[in-house]
Amino acid sequence: MAETKRDYYEVLGVDKSVNDDELKKAYRKLAKKYHPDANPDNKAEAEKKFKEVNEAYEVLSDPQKRKMYDQFGHSGPNGYESGFNGFSGFDGFSSGFGGFGGQGFDVDFGDIFSSIFGGGRTSQRRSNGPQRGNDLKVSVSITFKEAAFGVRKQIKVTRKEQCSTCNGTGARPGTSAETCKACNGTGQIKTVRNTILGSMQSIRPCDNCAGTGKVISNPCSTCRGTGFEKKTRTVTINIPQGIDNGNVIKVAGEGEPGTRGGQPGDLYISVSVAQDPVFSRKGDNLYENVHISFAKATLGGKVSVPTLEGFEDYDLPSGTQSGTVFTLRNKGIKNLNGKTAGNLNFTVIVDIPKRLNDEQRRLIERLAEISGEPVNTGKKKGFFEF
Ligand SMILES: [Zn+2]
Ligand SMILES: [Zn+2]
Repeated sequence: MAETKRDYYEVLGVDKSVNDDELKKAYRKLAKKYHPDANPDNKAEAEKKFKEVNEAYEVLSDPQKRKMYDQFGHSGPNGYESGFNGFSGFDGFSSGFGGFGGQGFDVDFGDIFSSIFGGGRTSQRRSNGPQRGNDLKVSVSITFKEAAFGVRKQIKVTRKEQCSTCNGTGARPGTSAETCKACNGTGQIKTVRNTILGSMQSIRPCDNCAGTGKVISNPCSTCRGTGFEKKTRTVTINIPQGIDNGNVIKVAGEGEPGTRGGQPGDLYISVSVAQDPVFSRKGDNLYENVHISFAKATLGGKVSVPTLEGFEDYDLPSGTQSGTVFTLRNKGIKNLNGKTAGNLNFTVIVDIPKRLNDEQRRLIERLAEISGEPVNTGKKKGFFEF
């Protein structure tokens, strides 16, 4: 601890006016250069440099700490001398600058490290512990009415399950996985070294067992030692009424199984709803067209309106114009919440007759005559009649 500390800018080989990007670049370069794994022949010296580089970066990359450093240098207002507590468990190399604090100058080395080398190592570090299973995604197609009323569906899901041959052990039946001799089942290899900076401990996952702590010398032939096999299962799901196209249902715990006691993943079911020949849908509201005759539009009268549950009579007023929209309240889709329902909106389309019998023609000609409208009279062929 009594060593004279080098200037942080000097350590990183940068100018006092260095910006964040340049600082990060300089740090990455040096961190890679002095990483103990990259210096197998000179580990102790590399570790020392590595620690120095990290400490410098830790301070200079934090605007507040950098300001204080610029002002007070290493002596600092609180005399924040770097107490170096040695390395501890991070993929071969991790550091706690414990004594640096006094003012909350704690260093989470893992964060610095993973932000630079990619977070992948964090999971390696836990490779001996429980891991959650993967989530699965499947899709299911249902009809428009099934979406409106809800439906029970059976869907096929292919997923990783415990191997039935070896019951998930990965070992050929009659044999069993053995405790890894290289790491005594811990899945980690620890090295402790005494240096002038104190004792340094480095931890890395065991190569022999890939961090699992177990070695399988006779792997199960069904799962090739993985302990899992793919199986296709039929899962019954209740699709609630009101579901819409593109909605996703989550079934907790029906994904792939976890490993080493981890939770299973979840199953996500993406629902696609077929179009209906009569209704279209926007949210919980329904829309449709209802065709009526010229006479009914003029005089008014009952129309039979298709609804989800059958036909419903509706009294149209006289003088109804084509394109008018009428609403049947709460006759739309029942909301997923089960409490509210949308409306059914129907647009009236007035059909103009294309063919008339003699009497109809005579009456309409008479109507035109009374209204004083010049019209074509006498039986004429329509465009498509030959
Ligand atoms: Zn197996
Ligand atoms: Zn091992």
